[in-house]
Amino acid sequence: MSNYRCSPCGYIYYPSRGEPKNGIAPGTAFEDLPDDYICPVCGVRAKVGKSAFYEMETMLYRCNACNYLYDPARGEPKNGIAPGTAFEDLPDDYVCPVCGVYVKIGKDAFVPTM
Ligand SMILES: [Zn+2]
Ligand SMILES: [Zn+2]
Repeated sequence: MSNYRCSPCGYIYYPSRGEPKNGIAPGTAFEDLPDDYICPVCGVRAKVGKSAFYEMETMLYRCNACNYLYDPARGEPKNGIAPGTAFEDLPDDYVCPVCGVYVKIGKDAFVPTM
């Protein structure tokens, strides 16, 4: 599932998180939001709706140390990370599965890449 960004304010809708406060369950794809969905940040004032959002390319994250690529679409099922888990949603103690085992290379060492 893709993330969507509100062009006026930069708010990002993450399907993996949803908006529980607004009655949108985690796992709700942007396409499945109601037609009257409005941006929770700027939509209240300006009625900014779905048409103001654009799809973000799925970002891969590359480990600076070993070039391992984290692909959110795949996750790391072997390590208990389900496919579709956004990099932002990885636990804070996530380490690179290739080189992090030895040297505790964590999320800080990863850079977004296309
Ligand atoms: Zn907005
Ligand atoms: Zn690494």
